[in-house]
Amino acid sequence: MTRVILWDIDGTLVHTGHAGEIALVNAMAFLFGIETSLHDVDYKGRTDRQIARNLLAKHQLPVNDDTERSFVNAYLTELALQLPQRQGHIYPGITTALNAIEAQNGIHNALLTGNMERGAQLKLQHYNLWHHFTFGAFADHSRHRPDLGAHALHLARQRFGPNLAPNQLIVIGDTPHDVDCGRSIGARTIAVATGGFTIGDLRQTGADAIFPDLSDLQPFLDVILAA
Ligand SMILES: [Mg+2]
Repeated sequence: MTRVILWDIDGTLVHTGHAGEIALVNAMAFLFGIETSLHDVDYKGRTDRQIARNLLAKHQLPVNDDTERSFVNAYLTELALQLPQRQGHIYPGITTALNAIEAQNGIHNALLTGNMERGAQLKLQHYNLWHHFTFGAFADHSRHRPDLGAHALHLARQRFGPNLAPNQLIVIGDTPHDVDCGRSIGARTIAVATGGFTIGDLRQTGADAIFPDLSDLQPFLDVILAA
């Protein structure tokens, strides 16, 4: 039976050594000469486009499609500069898990992320993971994270057939937003406590399975292969 594993990126696959956060701060300095910080901005599990709008609003700057696009472009330029300068890492077990999934017939790795596609590509190429993913739902499609789940289902059905059932999708992420996003489309959900939310926090979300990380491959595969 076909299954599609929809991976979140930040806090789930990789820690970019704060390259993303620093790129956001630098984009604000580059475009507006404003020194900002993210400590009072709700950004985990949000899309890049929503974060851009939240930052613009925080500094009473105009919030519209043009300013959002300018900010996102500046962010992507900064991100490309920051990634090689930061000490990031792939989370434990990820590479093994991606390879193990690819070795199974009919199971596919894809992305469901608040990153812009270009940002996702920059991050995952830097960590040599980009080639694992056959398609993705990105913030290019919508700035509202909840829309991206339905978009991922749509893309999966285009690829694997209109009869693909929602529970053939498995959403993996590190925040309650990821779990909500997966549940909203009827996907199964796996939460990992690698991104800052604890096992206790994630238990509240009602995720189908919760792991401290993916270093223990078999229990993770068991959840994915379960009928
Ligand atoms: Mg995340």
